Amino acid sequence: MRPIDAFRYCPGCSRALPERDTEVLFIDCSFCGFRYYFNPAAAVAAFARRADGQVLMIRRAREPSIGRLAPPGGFVDPGETYEAAVRREFREEVGIEPSGLRYLCSQPNRYAYRNLVYPVLDLYFVARLDGPTGIVDSNEVSAVCWLTPCDVSPADLAFDSTRKAYEQFLDTL
Ligand SMILES: [Zn+2]
Repeated sequence: MRPIDAFRYCPGCSRALPERDTEVLFIDCSFCGFRYYFNPAAAVAAFARRADGQVLMIRRAREPSIGRLAPPGGFVDPGETYEAAVRREFREEVGIEPSGLRYLCSQPNRYAYRNLVYPVLDLYFVARLDGPTGIVDSNEVSAVCWLTPCDVSPADLAFDSTRKAYEQFLDTL
């Protein structure tokens, strides 16, 4: 279910909202004028390589796609730039910040969490890692993997968006 479909009553006046078709992306209450847009959330990730060319991937410690490979990343906080979000997510998940961030591509994603499927826009970067990983966030990461880029199996990647971005990453090598 989409987040908008979970709202059956107007948050402004508590009246029942009419049925909305799947093309409608916002709540528009005809009683009180309350309007709310359900825009995609922004998320970031980076394919970061060290000097020997290996790329850092993490195994996801939780759903969705638990056990699958993904580059470190996550949702952008309010007020944060994409670049700052990448650096923060790396620091939190694998204990080191990447350098030399360069934009790679964006991919729409659908992020299923509990009963809702959130629309997300993933932004992918390429980056460099100049040192070893530090303390790993075991809530998010079950393993840190250094992999030869062409050896990563697309089927092992966490999301369709990850697979599409990874193809573009391989094209840059
Ligand atoms: Zn209302």
